[in-house]
Amino acid sequence: MFLYNSATHKKEEFKTHTPGRVEMYTCGPTVYHFAHIGNLRSYIMEDVLERYLRYAGYDVNRVMNITDVGHLSSDADTGEDKMLKGAKRENKSVMDIAKFYTDAFFEDCRKLNIKRPDVVQPATGLIGDYIKIISRLVETGYAYLAGGNVYFDSSKLSRYYVFNDHDEEDLAVGVREGVEEDSNKRNKNDFVLWFTKSKFEDQALKWDSPWGVGYPGWHIECSGISMKYNGEYLDLHCGGVDNAFPHHTNEIAQSESYLGHPWCTQWFHVHHLNDLSGKMSKSKGEFLTVSLLEEKGYDPLAYRYFCLQSHYRKTLVFSWENLDNAAAAYAKLLNRIAGLKPGEDVDQAAFDEYRAKFLQQMGNDLNTSMGVTAVFDVLKAKTGDATKLALIGDFDQVLSLSLLEKAALKRAEAARAVQTGSGEYAITGEGDPEVDAKVLARYEAKKVKNFAEADRIRDELRAEGIEITDVKGGASWRRV
Ligand code: AMP
Ligand code: ZN
Repeated sequence: MFLYNSATHKKEEFKTHTPGRVEMYTCGPTVYHFAHIGNLRSYIMEDVLERYLRYAGYDVNRVMNITDVGHLSSDADTGEDKMLKGAKRENKSVMDIAKFYTDAFFEDCRKLNIKRPDVVQPATGLIGDYIKIISRLVETGYAYLAGGNVYFDSSKLSRYYVFNDHDEEDLAVGVREGVEEDSNKRNKNDFVLWFTKSKFEDQALKWDSPWGVGYPGWHIECSGISMKYNGEYLDLHCGGVDNAFPHHTNEIAQSESYLGHPWCTQWFHVHHLNDLSGKMSKSKGEFLTVSLLEEKGYDPLAYRYFCLQSHYRKTLVFSWENLDNAAAAYAKLLNRIAGLKPGEDVDQAAFDEYRAKFLQQMGNDLNTSMGVTAVFDVLKAKTGDATKLALIGDFDQVLSLSLLEKAALKRAEAARAVQTGSGEYAITGEGDPEVDAKVLARYEAKKVKNFAEADRIRDELRAEGIEITDVKGGASWRRV
């Protein structure tokens, strides 16, 4: 696979520390509110990447943190803890908020076919590990104490801006809106590893440490969690593009200073989903969620389809019109797949040829729109339906659009909407063909005024525990 690496600014051949095995880390959500569909764009693209790597034969160990402490309102260590803000907003405890929004996040992921990572670790669960790392950084002179807090000393590094795709001037402390100068810092890029003092003394969760009772900074959690579950060598680190600075930059600074060797080789950053008014943001209060899409009648997988149509390194603009177009294209695709006849004769040579092409196209910096196009190419191919269905099922291990399941549902629905001479007679129920056939037979008996036969069928179904209700344009049935 060739993947763009934001640390080198180049598309490179994907390599791992241990051949065949990928140690993969993903920055998880800050669970003080629902995830917005922008956050979920990042998780969808990371999910496709993980699925692709598995499809290509790698053994993947994917780790994700849940940020339930330490992420302050500004990424530059100032402001109130986001979790505390959420707890106050809802008049609940921080732990209740964390549990509620963690569950809500994974429920959104389930609806979007985003696989749960192998390891999910809440930040509050590994405090001892962060203390161990910070202690060594203090001992080796990479960190210092000032004003009750422990800071990482960025001047100790020969190269701090590893992603350097931003303007240093813009990031100068005190210039950005909401960023206040912290007079304890020796250098403007220094960052907090451990807080005992912040302006917000009512921080809900605190732990004992060699530097006093306090709580960890935001960045140390990802280094600590990754080192615990991925080991000392990380192959692939993922996150949204806003994480590159300062979060990932600081993760690298502290991890490499602690380990004494290079830490993570490949960095995968997903660009933002914007709405027409600009960047989507949880802190703005009003934002788009998966539940809102559902309330408006969209299948969450239509949103996944929408995301797959564009490249992860391009900003994606959300509008209802754009989503409508994606939903229509997704429905059309499902209809075409539903039109294929399942069978057993798979043409192995054609299968191998199309699979190799898909592997190569998706392996070109995760070209998901080509991956979707590959499904259309299969539909147009001069090969039998069984081969087409086998290929689509195979590609969907990566795309994860539930293509075969949804097409089978459509096929069943179509089979139940039976054409009769007088127009369409639709039968709704569980989709049991035997019951549907009896319901249709009863309808046909009634049509020719054979009411005795119609009643007999009704009684027969009732004896099986099935109740029929006549509705406009057809009948519906249920098991009672
Ligand atoms: P947070 O819950 O704020 O920690 O963010 C969770 C993930 O969503 C992080 O990887 C962010 O980089 C990413 N993210 C935040 N905003 C957007 C956006 N508008 N589009 C895509 N990803 C985003
Ligand atoms: Zn992180």
